[in-house]
Amino acid sequence: MRLIDTHTHIYGEEFDLDRGEVFERAHEAGVEAFIFPAIDSQTNQAQFALTRQRHDCYSLIGLHPTSVNDNPHWREELAEVERLLANCNGGGCDAPVGSAERPVERFYGVGEVGLDLYWSSDFRAEQEECFRRQVELAIDYNLPLVVHTRSAWAEMLAILEEYKGKARGILHAFGESADTYERIAQLGGFLVGIGGVSTYKKSPLLESIPQIPLSAMVVETDSPYLSPVPFRGKRNEPKNLVYICEQIALLKGCSPEEVAEVTTNNARQLFGLN
Ligand SMILES: [Zn+2]
Repeated sequence: MRLIDTHTHIYGEEFDLDRGEVFERAHEAGVEAFIFPAIDSQTNQAQFALTRQRHDCYSLIGLHPTSVNDNPHWREELAEVERLLANCNGGGCDAPVGSAERPVERFYGVGEVGLDLYWSSDFRAEQEECFRRQVELAIDYNLPLVVHTRSAWAEMLAILEEYKGKARGILHAFGESADTYERIAQLGGFLVGIGGVSTYKKSPLLESIPQIPLSAMVVETDSPYLSPVPFRGKRNEPKNLVYICEQIALLKGCSPEEVAEVTTNNARQLFGLN
């Protein structure tokens, strides 16, 4: 199997002690590329450094919705996202790769961005403003979005419907019903990111995955979070993509190899990987 982990945070400190082994296990399992979603200024440096070290790692840039909550500096952080995108993807920046002006060669998408009203809804207006601006950046730079949504699917979809036909990307950590998937399909241009939640006993995905075509899916671990069964509750890592492919295959009545092949092609095409 050849796999792409379309959403992993292995640049995080949870992997500082054994990151090399985590990459080795991933390669043994067939994972050949790793997409790193950004969180905020606290995690960007580690993310960019790992991206520069390895040719199989690809960075996104964005400000996570929960990083807007209680953050008096979120507008400055958003301005930094814009500046980095202009420098790395806009052309005309002569700064060497690795400098503060140009930390990576280029970004492969805008993410993770979105709405998260799970912890608090006090910052809904700020999160919406931040999300809209980043949707517009993705459109301007012709980049895919990676959208994080928690306790806010209706609100998030209402915003993306305003940009129908223009925005494209992945709705990451999809765990919703077939009805919600239908609304996503109507948007056009958006895939759903399927992860460990698909292996949980009470997940709505057990009923919705059979209704979702493989051509609309990518696979992701969201490591270190959301480990699939039989590792639920433990630190997640990219090699566990295999368990997610097996679960999708079981639910759709096809082979894990077919799931891997189609979803890997979907990811390559969306992010423009060779
Ligand atoms: Zn994430």
